[in-house]
Amino acid sequence: MFRCFSWRRCIFIFVGLLLAIRSYGQTTDQKDRYLSISYRESETGTYDFYAQNRNFCPYQLLIEFPTLTAADASVDLPFYTVINAQTKEQFLFSISPLEIDFTFKYTYRFWMGDPEQVFAETQSDYVLPYRSGTSLKVTQGYNGPYSHKNTYALDFDLKESTTICAAREGVVVKVKEDSKQGGPNKAFAGDCNFITIYQRDGTLAEYVHLTFNGSIVTVGDTVRAGQVIGLGGNTGWSTSPHLHFCVKKPARMGYQTIPVKFVSRWSRRIALQADHSYRAYPPSKGRPENFAYSSYAYLRQLLGFGQTR
Ligand SMILES: [Zn+2]
Repeated sequence: MFRCFSWRRCIFIFVGLLLAIRSYGQTTDQKDRYLSISYRESETGTYDFYAQNRNFCPYQLLIEFPTLTAADASVDLPFYTVINAQTKEQFLFSISPLEIDFTFKYTYRFWMGDPEQVFAETQSDYVLPYRSGTSLKVTQGYNGPYSHKNTYALDFDLKESTTICAAREGVVVKVKEDSKQGGPNKAFAGDCNFITIYQRDGTLAEYVHLTFNGSIVTVGDTVRAGQVIGLGGNTGWSTSPHLHFCVKKPARMGYQTIPVKFVSRWSRRIALQADHSYRAYPPSKGRPENFAYSSYAYLRQLLGFGQTR
């Protein structure tokens, strides 16, 4: 009788443990092959969480626990932090069980870039994102009515496989080029091929709708302004081949698109307008904004023509 009770008790504990083990876990709908979150049981019985970031930009990370019973966290939840680029393993926090049948389930979200690592620059040095000497038409400008409402993004009309160049120097942090799908509504939005470049001021430039296998660069490549990076196309939410270009400034747990100006003739920086065509010029090699005008003003002053506007 006693033996039988003992067996039943053992089975009960075993099933209980199994249930407890099965209820640890993680669910996330977002995935990124360069960022991983993991946990290990320590010698003292706590569950220690770690993050690894193999990418070349920082990530903001938010870990939430939809289920946490009979256990304490060593930090306030949800847990927010920034994991810097190329971090092998960073300790985050511990979960300490209070009873044997404790449970936890966590989810996490992440955003590339870090709002605390965005640097204001006095001079913007973007070149148009196609070959110097060629012209493309802007079909939708900043805050455009079709798909750019409240968004600083530009659409350049182009032919399939037009060469796309980096608008600014940086390091490639994301590439998708396996899609052949494109179409005229939001349902196709996830099918776009694109390249994301992390720029030296902490912002992210996106080059979207590239053709199938249309990236010449891979994650980790550093690129110069004007360097060929890919081929334009019609993948994703797109009615005809075009390049969607935008610059995103990391905000806390999100992004903000920002307007930028591009190098034009005589190193002027210009803002682009819809329904106008623009010729691409090479990088200005450190010349100040409106180099031609400032040289003219300097000459006038030197020759004694007084103040110029
Ligand atoms: Zn667009």
